[in-house]
Amino acid sequence: MSNRVALVTGASRGIGRAVTLGLCRAGLDVIAASTSIEGSAEFAEAMSAAEANPMCLNVDLGSSESIKESFSRALQAKGRIDVLVNNAGITRDGLAVRMKPADWDLVLRTNLNGAFLAIQQVLPGMMRNRWGRVINISSVVGQAGSAGQANYAASKAGLIGLSKSLAQELGSRGITVNVVAPGFIETDMTKVLPEERKQKVLASIPLERAGTPEDIAGAVEFLAGERAGYITGHVLAVNGGMYM
Ligand code: NAP
Repeated sequence: MSNRVALVTGASRGIGRAVTLGLCRAGLDVIAASTSIEGSAEFAEAMSAAEANPMCLNVDLGSSESIKESFSRALQAKGRIDVLVNNAGITRDGLAVRMKPADWDLVLRTNLNGAFLAIQQVLPGMMRNRWGRVINISSVVGQAGSAGQANYAASKAGLIGLSKSLAQELGSRGITVNVVAPGFIETDMTKVLPEERKQKVLASIPLERAGTPEDIAGAVEFLAGERAGYITGHVLAVNGGMYM
């Protein structure tokens, strides 16, 4: 996998940070992107402690201008992006009957529109090189639905439809497009859930534990690699069996 350039969104924390480290260890040249990662001493220290040296790139996936500007900077710096991991995601939970249009819009704009616009930035180069890997991080919630998360579930289900369509469009160009659908993973996103809800979810997991960011990073690393070259349009559930 050496010489390949990967861009990971939502790299500052949680799953994205583990994916960044995993791809760095696998020998890829990694661009770590999030809203505030450039100049973050905490992130830089964590990377150097792990002997990883990704380029840091600020991007706001809720803004098409920011996506265009930052991806163009990344492409100028590295010359190519071979692997795109659309990992950044947000929640604005609430019951549908009371959901504010702004909360619907922000989640869809960041999680789904942002991923699509990011893909558009890297496709011309991947098509030219006749090689590319796009990995979209969806969720078990995009497969099974979740009360109180209509906006988030719609964005995550949207990523699955988007990925399967692109897999069909781009297969002839040597580009694979796959989805990783995590279950319940210990990160900042799930830390804020009420204890009762956590226990209920944990009780529904056959492997009897929450997942770790590294569990997801392993799946992403596999799909990014040469050995996954005949896999496209696939949804890889990494959820301890909580949804089959
Ligand atoms: P997290 O700990 O909340 O981290 C979210 C990441 O996304 C941060 O790096 C954040 O960067 C970045 N981000 C947020 N808004 C952004 C924006 N507008 N533009 C660019 N980057 C932005 O999340 P996580 O739990 O690691 O989740 C990562 C992905 O996995 C998400 O797509 C999530 O939906 C999905 N997922 C998570 C779980 C779970 O149980 N944790 C389960 C299923 C799916 P900054 O801090 O710099 O803003």
